[in-house]
Amino acid sequence: MKSIYCPHCGLILHNRIIGDEGLVPYCDHCQRPIFDHSPVCVLTMVINEFNEVALLKQDYVTKQHLVFVAGYYKPGESAEDTVRREVFEEIGQTVCGLTFIESFYHERLDTLFLCYISHVQKAPFKLSSEVDDAQWYSLPIDESLLNPLGVAYRIYQRYKTL
Ligand SMILES: [Zn+2]
Repeated sequence: MKSIYCPHCGLILHNRIIGDEGLVPYCDHCQRPIFDHSPVCVLTMVINEFNEVALLKQDYVTKQHLVFVAGYYKPGESAEDTVRREVFEEIGQTVCGLTFIESFYHERLDTLFLCYISHVQKAPFKLSSEVDDAQWYSLPIDESLLNPLGVAYRIYQRYKTL
């Protein structure tokens, strides 16, 4: 995402050379560079001590397939904070360990995805209003449950190589 105006004071930005970064939009009033940026989204497989993964039904995302827990990073958080918060908000599980899987840039969504495994002790689901249903599935799962073009499918393929 490119800014034309300063998000802090609203003045128009001018390009300025910032060290090795080269030309960067700069606010002369705030005296700071305004780097191009993309939203950051975490995506996580939530796996319990019985080697089951939580799959969510979220009709606003897709009615045909199931998905993993995902959500947007909020300023002030670490990526791991975002994962712990989203897992608790969406399905009411408490994360006791995290394993990083991979990051990738999603061009169509202009979003940086940071992907993790969240390890939890199996507890009853408490669903947010954004989640229509959630169930535990033994690993390995039937891959036809996931959208082959979606990010969950991509991360599941990566997970299998770990
Ligand atoms: Zn400014």
